[in-house]
Amino acid sequence: MRKVFIAANWKMNKTIGEAQSFLSEFVPLVHGVRDVDIVIAPPFTSLHAASSIIKGAANIQLSAQDIFYKDEGAYTGAISPVMLTDAGCTFVIIGHSERRQYFSDTDEVVNKKIKTARRYGLNVIFCIGESLKERETGKTKDVLSSEIDEGLKDIPLEGIVVAYEPIWAIGTGKTATLEQAQDAHRYIREKLASIYGNRAREIRILYGGSVTPDNINSLMNCKDVDGALVGGSSLDVNRFADIVKYRERQKD
Ligand code: PEP
Repeated sequence: MRKVFIAANWKMNKTIGEAQSFLSEFVPLVHGVRDVDIVIAPPFTSLHAASSIIKGAANIQLSAQDIFYKDEGAYTGAISPVMLTDAGCTFVIIGHSERRQYFSDTDEVVNKKIKTARRYGLNVIFCIGESLKERETGKTKDVLSSEIDEGLKDIPLEGIVVAYEPIWAIGTGKTATLEQAQDAHRYIREKLASIYGNRAREIRILYGGSVTPDNINSLMNCKDVDGALVGGSSLDVNRFADIVKYRERQKD
């Protein structure tokens, strides 16, 4: 019922030339993959060039890594929703823990950004997740619950994909166990159901945190894991293509 969704978050990596050569190789590698929605999130500077390369590929969409919540104006350094759609984006990542940590994106800011993105028809990859301290002190569910309450306040479910990214698993090589991942995803779905009712069954919940070609398969076997948001392993074209093609590799 929920189509698999796998997204690459390149973070602050790759020049325009590097993005172009990655995508020129990647598009033919995943050409036959029809059962996965593939999304690539390059840095702002590479969005337009990336868009020209993936234009002909029906299975790949473009995402920005952030957005500002104002429509336009005197906001030096910020990028507006119109700029993103103009550059070819259909998605934007909002609330990534690195934005929350290094750029002070609060839940309130995250909520405003999601509202603005949706107003302009951009789909949103909404990131939530607990720190190690929060997990160790038993606060995981409270954190997820309040990030959902605040981040999605007054926002309809259409166009939203949720990414559960335990902060302690991002870029650390430490993946959540299958039980931890499924437990968090089940909780997120229940929480969404308490807000949106039955429609929460339709929402895709991605796992993010040190996903690799070796662990994608078992993560995807968890009932409530509908895809992945991939950082480090998405920087190498063959590794990311292997992640996207996990089903095919399973048959080998
Ligand atoms: C991310 O930052 O979204 C992420 C999941 O990174 P990594 O795969 O490197 O842990």
